[in-house]
Amino acid sequence: MTRTVTTRRLTGLKPTGEPHLGILLGAIQPMVRDQYTSDATVFLADLHALTAAHEPRTLRETTLRHATVLLAAGLDPDRTVFYVQSQVPDHAELHFLLERTAARGRAAYPVLQASDILLHDTAEVPVGADQRPRVALTRDIAMRFNQRYGPTFVVPEPVTPTVAARVMDLANPTVKMGQTTSSASGAIGLLDPPALVTRKLSRAVTETDGIIAYDPAARPGVSNLLEILAACVGGTPVEIGTALRGYGDLRRATTEAVLGLLGPLRARFETLARDPGYVRQVLAEGAERARSRTAETVFRAKRAIGVLA
Ligand code: AMP
Repeated sequence: MTRTVTTRRLTGLKPTGEPHLGILLGAIQPMVRDQYTSDATVFLADLHALTAAHEPRTLRETTLRHATVLLAAGLDPDRTVFYVQSQVPDHAELHFLLERTAARGRAAYPVLQASDILLHDTAEVPVGADQRPRVALTRDIAMRFNQRYGPTFVVPEPVTPTVAARVMDLANPTVKMGQTTSSASGAIGLLDPPALVTRKLSRAVTETDGIIAYDPAARPGVSNLLEILAACVGGTPVEIGTALRGYGDLRRATTEAVLGLLGPLRARFETLARDPGYVRQVLAEGAERARSRTAETVFRAKRAIGVLA
């Protein structure tokens, strides 16, 4: 087997808010695309969503909604180990053990994230530039533990996703789509009706001189539409830009591509959402598969530390 087939990759998504186009193009699509060439694990990080004030019922609903969206987008639970973090208690146990041993002075949230990664003997963590420091902290904790208690954890590497789309807010293309500062009209919800998607894209801010060039710093509006279009249909924003004649053309092509991507996703979501028992069952089976791996890691860590394991 080649290295890529067996490399273990882990992605955690916080199940809060409404899933939007940025998450689909920046995180879910690469995950779906890579799931057959890597040993992929994906979990919904509901324990990370507890630090912000939250409504218990809403958390439950959005967790199930995010799970349904991921399955509708093509995540294959037979291939990817897919589960909800709180259903695998080993996350909490390893977090506690690391807090007691290797993470002195670190804030709790990044230590839980380090535990999530180390629990799976993860070799690669696909992350954007902004998340690299988190992986660096995980490496630090793992190396400190290994030095003190003997080789126990795999030290993970951060990797850049194969499609590194960075989707910006349509109304304010200098902030990322979905950030708290971004606006309702600037984010496309994955379950938005087609007319709303069309309206949002028709009002997307562009520059005014009619020039189509991919230059995110100088031309954030046009570049964002090119980036979205490229991530939907394949190819690079620069190549795609050369084939377009004007802003009308760019908007039409982007709208068509986004509707083409979201149509089937929405249809599959509606089918799956009629059977929440099935989605819960998929998650329960995923948690079971995850536990068979993570229990082993916790056992190794406990034995290394010296508690009776
Ligand atoms: P978050 O919900 O912000 O934790 O993001 C979940 C995943 O989606 C992370 O991998 C982010 O990098 C990715 N993501 C979120 N927003 C965007 C965006 N506007 N463009 C590209 N990727 C994004």
